[in-house]
Amino acid sequence: MAPIRHAFARVMRSLVMKFTLLCGVILVAATASLMAVEFQLKRSENNASGLRHATLITELFASNSASFIRSGETSRLNSVVNEFGAREEVTGVYAADVNRRVLSAAGDVNYAVGDRASDHLIQSAIGAVDTRMEVVSGNIRVAEPVFSDGRLVGAVVANIPLAAVARPASALIVRQVLIAIIALVIFLPLVAYLINRALAPVAKLTEAARLASSRKLDLRIDVQTGDELEVLANAFNRMFARLDASVKRVHRLAYVDMITELPNRERFRKELEQVARDAIEKDQEGAVLFLDLDRFKRVNDSLGIGEGDRLLEAVGRRLREAARAWDLADGDASAGPSMVARLGGDEFTILMPRLRDATDAARLARRVIDAVRRPFEISGHQVFLGLSVGAAVFPRDGADPETLLRHADLAMDAAKRAGGNACEFFESAMNQSAFERLVLENELREAVREDQLVVYYQPKVGMNDGALSGAEALVRWQHPTAGLLSPGAFIQAAEECGLIGEIGDWVLRRACHEAAGLMAKGHSVPVAVNVSAMQFESDTFADTVIDALNESGLPPEMLELELTESTAMRDPERVLKQIAPLREMGVTFAIDDFGTGHSSLSYLTRMPFDVFKIDQTFVRDMSEDEHARVVVETILALAKSLNLKTVAEGVETAEQYAQLRGLGATLAQGYLFGRPMPLEDLERFAEPEAGSNVG
Ligand code: C2E
Ligand code: MG
Ligand code: MG
Repeated sequence: MAPIRHAFARVMRSLVMKFTLLCGVILVAATASLMAVEFQLKRSENNASGLRHATLITELFASNSASFIRSGETSRLNSVVNEFGAREEVTGVYAADVNRRVLSAAGDVNYAVGDRASDHLIQSAIGAVDTRMEVVSGNIRVAEPVFSDGRLVGAVVANIPLAAVARPASALIVRQVLIAIIALVIFLPLVAYLINRALAPVAKLTEAARLASSRKLDLRIDVQTGDELEVLANAFNRMFARLDASVKRVHRLAYVDMITELPNRERFRKELEQVARDAIEKDQEGAVLFLDLDRFKRVNDSLGIGEGDRLLEAVGRRLREAARAWDLADGDASAGPSMVARLGGDEFTILMPRLRDATDAARLARRVIDAVRRPFEISGHQVFLGLSVGAAVFPRDGADPETLLRHADLAMDAAKRAGGNACEFFESAMNQSAFERLVLENELREAVREDQLVVYYQPKVGMNDGALSGAEALVRWQHPTAGLLSPGAFIQAAEECGLIGEIGDWVLRRACHEAAGLMAKGHSVPVAVNVSAMQFESDTFADTVIDALNESGLPPEMLELELTESTAMRDPERVLKQIAPLREMGVTFAIDDFGTGHSSLSYLTRMPFDVFKIDQTFVRDMSEDEHARVVVETILALAKSLNLKTVAEGVETAEQYAQLRGLGATLAQGYLFGRPMPLEDLERFAEPEAGSNVG
């Protein structure tokens, strides 16, 4: 019932219905006013003919009674008066002489025979010698002068009800109303039909607007009526075309990465949500690969932003090609293609909607790694990049986009730590270590704020005399609950969360300050400070060192900076620029952990360093391992030919010490001479009597 009521209400509210009703009302109003006019005309016409009829009767009465009035034949006059008084249209008549004395009367009159008629009508008729007539409340009264032989002899008066002589107009009204109703019945449906036709384009416009509101914008309304509706329809068409274009543009901005033209994070997230849901329903597996370029930041910095973007674009293209080739060769056609997206920066993702088994993900990862490894040609330069890939398999490793991306990201971190150009799969332990890392980072920030860091010093002694010839500053963390922590427990975390710069600068200033303090007490102990890659790559590095020297008053020759081989080799041009001003002042530079990196010897030997620190693994192994001994010998020979000093690290036994001395190392550092120690201990170590405590 309700739907019918609704449909009826809709029809009643429709424009067609409203216009039809309006036409009906106009039609009725027009007919009604026409009928009213017609009725009035008819009524006055009927009245006029009634009056004529009444006058004729009275004239006839006058002429019939004329001779009897003159002759005074009362009985004959009475019979004429009675005859007329008896007519059905007459209610009363009387006849009077010239002096208005009533001679005879019949029916309903105000006078009796012999009365003198005093009403103005008969007075006026006799006075004017002419017919007089009046209509009073539906009654016609006619007074007619009576002549006999051309002489006025008296007058007659007749009372005649108007209704008796005039036809009523109401009969006409009934007929007209009938005609009007028939006209309405015939014309209203016709009017409705015509209005409906005329308004058909409005229905089209309405339907189009409804479709547009449900986001279907690629439509055209075809209205060719040549009137305002056509103009309106054309305006609608133009509006839809513009809306369609801007909606597409907005969609592009919202879901496409502008540099690579790949889907962006938002689009990827949506797709992943859908695909992961499907996979769960169909009990299938898929994978998310999280890709991060190795070394991109450095390349980007040296190329500039514009070229960096072009490089990303080229990477995006290769990834897409690799994914497409995989789809064609190994993909599951029924599952749809893999989606490559850019999350931002140098991070990309690939969505594999279906896996036959986990090795599928590893194989695609290998493909994309190989694709990115091939050199890129960017404005005439060959650029080499690497790629670290982390894989999360759904639904096993998560069912929603956030979890899957986070897990794939953690796996990617593991791949990156393993040296890059590798793929790792997510394992639940990664979550735990990521959590621990987060706690560690927060604690480390607090440590920097709360002054929980301290500097320990490890002595370096001369090979020949065993005398103290310097000390290496090594940072320690006095943790509130865990006790004294070595750098191994926190340096990597500090590097990853960006705190290493702050920590390194602090160590540098503290070491300069304390070495200057020792000098003031008469102990000349040159201090060596480790410099991390991030610290060294900062543009303000040289200034920071100069500030530390100035603030502490330590002579530059008393400061040595240790760079690891990989830091030194990352960007040789930059290294030269950074260290040149400091070397000029007298600061010396050492390459730490020498022998562990993979740097080109020829390059290294051309760099302006003063000291090689032989890595402790070679020192430890040299007595048993022939290879380690050869490396140590080679480094020492190289240093000698380049006229550089050498420090053998990790000397723990007298045997190692003797062997190194035999091979010609300059200095030694290790537990044999002293572990890293607080400043006070170093000060005691520097006392002359503590000097050579080694045999
Ligand atoms: P490194 O610069 O090669 O420092 C030498 C490391 O070898 C020190 O470890 C030291 O305690 C240890 N060592 C010295 N002699 C012996 C020995 O005879 N046997 C053995 N087994 N080990 C010995 P530590 O203090 O744990 O520092 C580890 C690394 O942390 C350092 O290696 C250095 O790369 C880094 N580091 C320490 N302090 C800082 C710092 O202030 N800034 C930066 N960037 N890195 C630092
Ligand atoms: Mg060092
Ligand atoms: Mg070292």
